[in-house]
Amino acid sequence: MRFDILTLFPEIINAYINESIIKRALQNNLIEINVINIRDFTLLKNGQVDDTPYGGGAGMVLMCEPVVRAIESVKKEDSKVYLLTPQGKTFNDKLASTIINETKHLILVCGHYEGFDERIKNFVDGEISIGDYVLTGGELPALVIIDAISRFIPGVIAEESFKEESFKDNLLDYPVYTKPRDFRGYQVPDVLLSGNHQKINEYRNNEKLRITKEKRPDLLDK
Ligand code: SAM
Repeated sequence: MRFDILTLFPEIINAYINESIIKRALQNNLIEINVINIRDFTLLKNGQVDDTPYGGGAGMVLMCEPVVRAIESVKKEDSKVYLLTPQGKTFNDKLASTIINETKHLILVCGHYEGFDERIKNFVDGEISIGDYVLTGGELPALVIIDAISRFIPGVIAEESFKEESFKDNLLDYPVYTKPRDFRGYQVPDVLLSGNHQKINEYRNNEKLRITKEKRPDLLDK
């Protein structure tokens, strides 16, 4: 899977992808991440990429020319291009798996300031939001999406972890414990110390159901 991230702040993306599991996935060539500075595509002096809104109002608006030229510099026939906006389709586990099935080349465009000139929407496949709140820029949403999608790619995380995780089969994951057995009087459940794998599996499956009912009953209606 290849991700092209179009941003005005490449260092935010670079800082995250050079650590931990995503760094390892890059080193093992399981994913490819290309970070593109939108400013490199302006035709204006001084690297200008935004301007005041027509009709007045607060903030600056990202201009069509640099954003569309940046998209065109990486877009291929089978690419999917999404603007990151709070108004887009809400990103979740299902959308992550849909995206991974529909493309091997995802282009994510990070906005900033007041957002994108509306006409840029004619050059993309859609908009994605990571939730009903407004952030200062699209870099964190891009990283959320890269991270969540990368976990679907075989080899990025252990297959066993992936199969058991929250939201698979509309259930939340079971609780996990590590040493010590007793932490300030809070004990690890006996069954996990029993060595009986059938009983442990039964316990974990029951816990998944119990926790989902308690924390996210809406998932069970799906
Ligand atoms: N004026 C816009 C609005 O109210 O819909 C908000 C612009 S926001 C301050 C600046 C940029 O941050 C957006 O263009 C987008 O790229 C990004 N952004 C903010 N919140 C987001 C969210 N929940 N999901 C995805 N991107 C978001």
